[in-house]
Amino acid sequence: MSKQNDDFFKSVIAHAKEYGLVFPSSEIYDGLSAVYDYGQLGVELKNNLKQYWWKSMVQLHENIVGIDSAIFMHPTIWKASGHVDGFNDPMIDNKDSKKRYRADQLIEDQISRYEADGKTEEAQQLQADMDEALNADDLPRLKAIIEEHNIVCPQSGTKNWTDVRQFNLMFSTKMGASAEDADTVYLRPETAQGIFVNFLNVQKSGRMKVPFGIAQIGKAFRNEVIARQFIMRMREFEQMELQFFVRPGTELEWYEKWKETRLKWHISLNGDSKKYRFHDHVKLAHYANAAVDIEYDFPFGFKEVEGIHSRTDFDLAQHQKFSGKKLQYFDPEINQNYVPYVVETSVGLDRLFLTILCNAFEEQDLSTEDKKDSRSVLHFHPAIAPVKAAVLPLTKKDGLPEKAREILNSLRIDYNIQYDEKDSIGKRYRRQDAIGTPFCITVDYQTLEDDTVTVRHRDSMEQERLPIAGLERMMAEKAGWKSLLNDLI
Ligand code: ATP
Repeated sequence: MSKQNDDFFKSVIAHAKEYGLVFPSSEIYDGLSAVYDYGQLGVELKNNLKQYWWKSMVQLHENIVGIDSAIFMHPTIWKASGHVDGFNDPMIDNKDSKKRYRADQLIEDQISRYEADGKTEEAQQLQADMDEALNADDLPRLKAIIEEHNIVCPQSGTKNWTDVRQFNLMFSTKMGASAEDADTVYLRPETAQGIFVNFLNVQKSGRMKVPFGIAQIGKAFRNEVIARQFIMRMREFEQMELQFFVRPGTELEWYEKWKETRLKWHISLNGDSKKYRFHDHVKLAHYANAAVDIEYDFPFGFKEVEGIHSRTDFDLAQHQKFSGKKLQYFDPEINQNYVPYVVETSVGLDRLFLTILCNAFEEQDLSTEDKKDSRSVLHFHPAIAPVKAAVLPLTKKDGLPEKAREILNSLRIDYNIQYDEKDSIGKRYRRQDAIGTPFCITVDYQTLEDDTVTVRHRDSMEQERLPIAGLERMMAEKAGWKSLLNDLI
């Protein structure tokens, strides 16, 4: 990461904490690695992102419904899905620093260094060697690559490495009253399996016809070997997943369709198509016949924000085998029974949050010849901004606060609105800019005479005079869900 990007990312993290978006978990106890809490504004932004996803995936599709399955599930589910035996990361320890790393990420960092130094050929060769070793699950080869390229531990600076070993990422715990007869259960590492095991329940109770989808938003847990880059890689995080069930043989068509749909969705939120790219998987997971990541250009480079997988009939077929229950669909159009194929779209809510934050944050220099000035601003799309508008009486007296509160009450049922009467109006504007509030509605003496207010726009900082009676309409047009969702219909 360049120094400039590093500084920018540090400012984003500091800003998120200072303004109540994201806090390190358990901070007064020195924190808990790779676990974060969302603050008073963070939870609003996160809820808005969930709503936007849910509306665009469930509400706008006649053939998609949502569920909310439990985090704990029967332990055999994770045997059937392959997670007990195969949900591993290759890890390596440095004997001097006692620090643990993901072997592939140590190598990826070396590739980035080669690229930064203009050593393109070395970078490409190393990438190819690593992909080959990962594909073959060849752990000794991964270690040899680390040694051949003189990769040292970032902490100790030495090459005193252990062998590379596989490390299972699932958290387990015990369920049951006494230790002897307690069952080992897992905290789910993905929300997908809760959908697969409910496939027939939903299909039958909802009389769903293939092709149809089941969507879910929920927590997932992974004991990541290394955790870094803020909320990018967490041990407790949230996923928004769609499993779309299709007739066998049509899955790659649907896969292409969902790729385009999901990319468009991300661009609709962040506006800049150059910040996104597709990255096809070199090593396909055991269940997939096609897979791609949607990557976002974070300050630390292009990284995955969403995965799209054509999962074949692997999951339903495995659950059929392990449960002994038929998970089939009778297709009246072709008069056949079959196990549907599945196309999955899976976006991490926290990573999505980070794309929004990085894209929105700006430290603007507003200096003129006579005066130095600057502001921090979050350019959120109004429909997802944590606070949609602030109502500000110019002074604390002469009936202005009462008038301002009337406006507040007329808008607060539909939108999250703040009321603020403290400090100068300029300071209040800056506070709202810093949390990304798109509109500041100022009540002044003229308001008492003609029922008009000043509306100040966050991005342009321009002000206009509007009648109070027109505020609800302005808010609906600019900050209502239609302002974002209309483009997706
Ligand atoms: P990575 O390669 O970065 O570990 P993954 O390919 O294992 O991710 P998936 O299993 O495809 O990820 O999960 C779908 C989505 O869930 C990812 O695109 C990402 O947005 C999110 N996600 C996965 N792991 C984490 C994590 N540890 N912290 C936050 N989000 C995560």
